[in-house]
Amino acid sequence: MKKNILYTITPKDLAGHLFEVTLTVAAPDPAGQVFSLPAWIPGSYMIREFARNIVQIHAESQGDAIALRKVDKHTWQAASCAGPLTLRYEVYAWDLSVRAAHLDQTHGFFNGTSVFLRAEGQEDVPHVVDIRRPDDEACGSWRVATALPELKAKRYGFGTYVAADYDELIDHPVEMGNFALTTFKAHGVPHDIVITGRVPNLDIKRLADDLKKVCETQIALFEPETRRAPMRRYVFMTLAVGDGYGGLEHRASTALICSRSDLPVIGKKEMTDGYRTYLGLCSHEYFHTWNVKRIKPDVFAPYDLRVENYTTLLWLFEGFTSYYDDLVLVRSGLIDEKDYFKLLAKTINGVLRGSGRSKQSVAQSSFDAWVKYYRQDENAPNAIVSYYTKGSLVGLALDLTIRSQTKGKKSLDDVMRALWERFGRDFYEISAESGRGISEAEVEALFDEITGLSLKRTLRRFVHGTEDLPLAKLLSPFGVALAGSRKEARPSLGARITKDGNDSKLANVYEGGAAHRAGLSAGDVLVAIDGLRVTAGNVDILLNRLNIGDTVTIHAFRRDELLCVEAVLAADDAPQMNLTAEMKPAAAARLRAGWLGRF
Ligand code: ZN
Repeated sequence: MKKNILYTITPKDLAGHLFEVTLTVAAPDPAGQVFSLPAWIPGSYMIREFARNIVQIHAESQGDAIALRKVDKHTWQAASCAGPLTLRYEVYAWDLSVRAAHLDQTHGFFNGTSVFLRAEGQEDVPHVVDIRRPDDEACGSWRVATALPELKAKRYGFGTYVAADYDELIDHPVEMGNFALTTFKAHGVPHDIVITGRVPNLDIKRLADDLKKVCETQIALFEPETRRAPMRRYVFMTLAVGDGYGGLEHRASTALICSRSDLPVIGKKEMTDGYRTYLGLCSHEYFHTWNVKRIKPDVFAPYDLRVENYTTLLWLFEGFTSYYDDLVLVRSGLIDEKDYFKLLAKTINGVLRGSGRSKQSVAQSSFDAWVKYYRQDENAPNAIVSYYTKGSLVGLALDLTIRSQTKGKKSLDDVMRALWERFGRDFYEISAESGRGISEAEVEALFDEITGLSLKRTLRRFVHGTEDLPLAKLLSPFGVALAGSRKEARPSLGARITKDGNDSKLANVYEGGAAHRAGLSAGDVLVAIDGLRVTAGNVDILLNRLNIGDTVTIHAFRRDELLCVEAVLAADDAPQMNLTAEMKPAAAARLRAGWLGRF
């Protein structure tokens, strides 16, 4: 009989950012037990090679050292031994993101993908982990937050936790430290909010009240009858920093990073842009609890964490999640329709900004996420389209299409529920190894079956085509106008310009714009426009005295070489679309209430 895999993890050197990990296999493979660390973390589609942070690794069995052979960049094989076999290794943890591990005097955080080697061939047995308190008096009040089930530990305490298999072990990140904590229930299920970092006057009660609305709206969307959440408990863990943004989804938790200023302040009740952004991020990661953590593309069931897992479907798993994240805010009453239209306009303008949208479809963007979306360079706006933002607009376009063509009887919600019922609800009951994902052909067929419409051609055009989505036409039956504003056209260099110390630097040069035609490149530092010095942030001031069509002399440094070029200023073609609610007939009002109304 196979025995449990046992780990210990100890924050060993806070100042040196080292976790010490031991892994014991009771019955190692007689041919020589193989161990490996994932090359990527689910939800973040890039090869990250976490094994590069393993500082030293040794194997032993019953007091004897056992030879350990490195097989490839993230794989080791121990010499044959009777067992039990124990590995002891250190992991350098100094990545301040939600994707890896971080340890210092203020807190510890890790994803299992960064710290827990996999005992190959023994993935399906229970994996027990003893999370140990750092041996430092200053950490006496530290607590532990994780959705990993406790075995011999009090809730929020150090001690042993257990996962049913390796797949589950690495899907519950762990936070430790002196964090702020509160709990609320969403349709009966406890949800923890854990905030790490110094946040004066944090209004954690408001956060709990608002997130409860987000969570209950989503639970009701997927399970309108039973209102049953897909997990026994859930943890929102957030690291608040001076300036940061990011999140990663897990089956019963999410790890987030945000700017301190985004979090609500006691006594201040307004909905700031920052707080709305933070709630949108929480809503996004929570929606993934259904869409990608349980409803999955076929190639993710199971994940192969050694190599890239190519799917054309991230427009559904990330794009639709992005569509619903803000939609849930309006449906739960946290923002109003006007604010929602502003957010939609921002997404539409962002997608229209890049000429890459006419070269890459969202299906291609999904497939190439590993080398393009996740590894963007200065040419990204001219070369790629985001399966997040354009994917969310594909979700919107399909939702509006279904709602108008069925006169409000069906919607994208029905498609999401069908995906949930057929592929998601039982995913972990069947086990991660045998739970089934969905193929693109099945997605297409499901849209037609659930809506009773013939959407295949439309879906293909939206997903595999590169033309702009007909959003103005689709919004019209809902009494919503999408149109460009009549702002005065201003002269522009056709580039995104960022501050670099006291300089202005071209961050992106848009294809066909004035800077491109003049021969300027991303990375060039502007020195002067028509003999007037450019400093950080004064480019618009200089340009505003000039006219569209003027030829200007631009001095710029490329590396340390001075360039002088002539540029013809063009009209700023940054899209300025707005959505406005119009006076509307009753039919449009009904359609819009079904789309945006309280859920
Ligand atoms: Zn996402």
